[in-house]
Amino acid sequence: MTQHMNQPPIETKEKKESLNFIEQIIEEDIRNDKNGGKVLTRFPPEPNGYLHIGHAKSICLNFGLGINYNGSTNLRFDDTNPAKEDIEYVDSIQEDVKWLGFKWNNEPLYASDYFDKLYDLAVELIKKGKAYICEQSPEEMAAYKGTPTQPGKPSPWRDRPVEESLDLFARMKNGEFEEGTKMLRAKIDLASPNMHMRDPIMYRIKKADHHRTGKKWCIYPMYDYAHGQSDYFEGITHSICTLEFEVHRPLYDWFLDQMVEPGGYRPRQIEFARLNLSYTIMSKRKLLRLVQEKHVSGWDDPRMPTISGYRRRGYTPESIRNFAERIGVAKRDNLIDVSLLEFSVREDLNKKALRVMGVLNPLKVVITNYPEGKSEQLDAINNPEDQSMGTRKVSFAREIFIEKDDFLEEAPKNFFRLSPGNEVRLRYAYFIKCTDVVKDANGQITELHCTYDPATKGGNAPDGRKVKGTIHWVDASNHVNAEVRLYDRLFNVEEPDEAEEGKDFLSHINPDSLKVIRAFVEKAVETGKPGDKYQFERMGYFCIDKDAAPNNVVFNRTVTLKDTWAKIANK
Ligand code: ATP
Ligand code: MG
Repeated sequence: MTQHMNQPPIETKEKKESLNFIEQIIEEDIRNDKNGGKVLTRFPPEPNGYLHIGHAKSICLNFGLGINYNGSTNLRFDDTNPAKEDIEYVDSIQEDVKWLGFKWNNEPLYASDYFDKLYDLAVELIKKGKAYICEQSPEEMAAYKGTPTQPGKPSPWRDRPVEESLDLFARMKNGEFEEGTKMLRAKIDLASPNMHMRDPIMYRIKKADHHRTGKKWCIYPMYDYAHGQSDYFEGITHSICTLEFEVHRPLYDWFLDQMVEPGGYRPRQIEFARLNLSYTIMSKRKLLRLVQEKHVSGWDDPRMPTISGYRRRGYTPESIRNFAERIGVAKRDNLIDVSLLEFSVREDLNKKALRVMGVLNPLKVVITNYPEGKSEQLDAINNPEDQSMGTRKVSFAREIFIEKDDFLEEAPKNFFRLSPGNEVRLRYAYFIKCTDVVKDANGQITELHCTYDPATKGGNAPDGRKVKGTIHWVDASNHVNAEVRLYDRLFNVEEPDEAEEGKDFLSHINPDSLKVIRAFVEKAVETGKPGDKYQFERMGYFCIDKDAAPNNVVFNRTVTLKDTWAKIANK
């Protein structure tokens, strides 16, 4: 087992005041010297899709426990269902876990590594009379299973001779039978109130190529059997999963009972509430539909709740880890407000993002008393939160662009931006005053004429005169004309999974979740690379997209500066 030294340091916000229930269990196990006081967790993704923010929660939890308790974490692909699995997913999952900042033990592991062992163990169970080959159809099996209040009826194959089951199981493995005609079932308790204990299926026939074992197998173990045994083979101490597996726990334990020495090493399953986020879909099946039906551009579309989508959108690993830490670990299902995730990314980018000025909706301003042909390089601060990020030069000239919204011809009293006669500060430049509003034949404003006060260079008046507003701007002839993709939430209702009769989650897609515009951004971004993050002052956080080309800078809006949805809700 690799030691925690290999793990990256994780910044947790503040020292925890209280332990969550999983930490309490682990600390008690350590105190009791259970499993020699060791902690080994695992993250067990099924390689049938890209990881999403819910998985990120599980990753932070499992790897976090490994780090905090001097232990470590295995990455184990739960690849027991060859039909839906793909190597593309195996690769993306590893990339995403690494990007989040975690390191697993040694090489990634695969449940398929244990197919031989699992098979041998199943043979042992048959020999002990604890498993049998059943030939019921799915319908018959369902009819025999009973209900939670009514015991099941035994399958006619339940008491077949051990020799017969052994022979049939070997022949199933050799591919002699068709899919669905035979299965291996554990012989447990048909009267159990827990339906999972009523002779659950251990193996079924699947004639599909597996991405790792190829054509070697045509029988595949079921999750309940494979998962707990894989935990056992690996020496996992705490097997953390989501709440829907609580009812599977007796079965997890039954399988272990069949091989664990009493008092010896034994993994323990602990359940926590899965992460549900408002305005967000997390089912992999539905995410796959969004991709396949082209509602989004791919798994890493910046509107997707996938880790690769958030990465492309400009989220940082720290912002996601802080979010996971902040929401904690719950025992009961709940819905987390997506604005908490947005808060976490703002908080982190505020510390890290370079400030630049970018005008998304331009209005030309001519500074009539500024010499024609002149331009200057003014000093601007890269990040007021972090002086070590230094300063840069911004080009200023007679013609500039400001944001259309920063001018109002008929301004109310509390409008402190530009209006006729009202003086404002151009960030890092000068005070200006609007003298003329130029309009076209339709009465639309085409440009503003302003005068500037040369004495206010840098944005302060030597006579101590104050202005109430500061606005951003860019040099009209010296800037980058960039493509900007303005993203909004992909769904326009809090719980997109809940759809009216006859409709599905797609009916809740927000038609305005992507708007593409051209914007004028100061020159500093010209040297940016995909993934570089900026704050466009007053406008939000933006990052350069992988689609950027040498003569076309492309930005994704990561998040607005404020929670605009909250404002709408409070109106
Ligand atoms: P599937 O329906 O394909 O099984 P899944 O969401 O369970 O989907 P897995 O790849 O099996 O996906 O999940 C890997 C791990 O991530 C599991 O331990 C699972 O419990 C955990 N996980 C999945 N979704 C969430 C979620 N929303 N919140 C917390 N943990 C999650
Ligand atoms: Mg699963």
